[in-house]
Amino acid sequence: MNIDLSSKTVLVTGGGRGIGAAAVRAFVEAGATVGLHYRADHAAASALANELGDKVVLLQADLAQAEACERLWREAVERLGHVDVLVNNAGVAVGSPNEPDSQTWLSDWERTMAVNLTAPGLLCRAAVAHFKPRGGGRIINISSRAAFRGDQPDYLAYAASKGGLVALTRSLARGYGKDGIAAFIVAPGFTRTEMAQDFIDQYGEDYAVNDIALSRLTEPKDIAPTLVFLASGLADHATGATIDINAGSYVH
Ligand code: NAP
Repeated sequence: MNIDLSSKTVLVTGGGRGIGAAAVRAFVEAGATVGLHYRADHAAASALANELGDKVVLLQADLAQAEACERLWREAVERLGHVDVLVNNAGVAVGSPNEPDSQTWLSDWERTMAVNLTAPGLLCRAAVAHFKPRGGGRIINISSRAAFRGDQPDYLAYAASKGGLVALTRSLARGYGKDGIAAFIVAPGFTRTEMAQDFIDQYGEDYAVNDIALSRLTEPKDIAPTLVFLASGLADHATGATIDINAGSYVH
């Protein structure tokens, strides 16, 4: 089965590196025009955009700010003409020891929620308003294994934000299916990116491999093809579903 997205436009948040960069690459390979959003790493984002050519439009925004989320959506629509698929991929994992400094804990919690949950919520809201008069669209929200399995005590906010993203996505799927809108959750497990590097440095790669059923760690390229498939429309009757991509570390 050949997936051809040449008539589609896709906005990928956090598209300059890690899972997002692999997604941008895969969408362009499938023919899509892609809005590649980044926050700070202009060098990585523009290098990828230059490599992939005129199918990629660069968009910058700090998604910790609500107004920046709204501006990002407006700019994506202006620059791409319209958006068919929104991929909420940008995210932060802030380690926050549960110690008495409640001010630090609270600001870590708020930053995590702003980027991982409020920003996707705002972008989904804007996407729904854009999709409805167009007869539909697709949303793919990148959650985490942590939403289902839980996370370490230092990452309570991360797990809670990703659990919230699951509930948000399921609500969108149930609420807007008759408007032609499909919404999916992709829940990666441990994936070799900068986000995972601290853990690898601290505990070693063997520790991470021992936790999974497969014999090598998941790479961003192991996640991207599923995103292309979900974006294609071939999976719309799975709307609301979660696709686990965690190398068998957590099966439910
Ligand atoms: P990563 O390599 O750390 O990349 C994070 C991305 O998010 C970057 O593109 C970054 O943009 C963007 N970002 C961070 N803070 C932002 C902000 N305030 N505003 C806008 N963009 C921001 O992470 P990754 O591993 O590829 O993770 C991608 C998604 O997968 C995340 O949602 C993550 O929670 C999820 N996930 C990852 C793993 C894993 O093991 N790696 C497991 C489960 C789920 P800049 O580079 O421009 O700052």
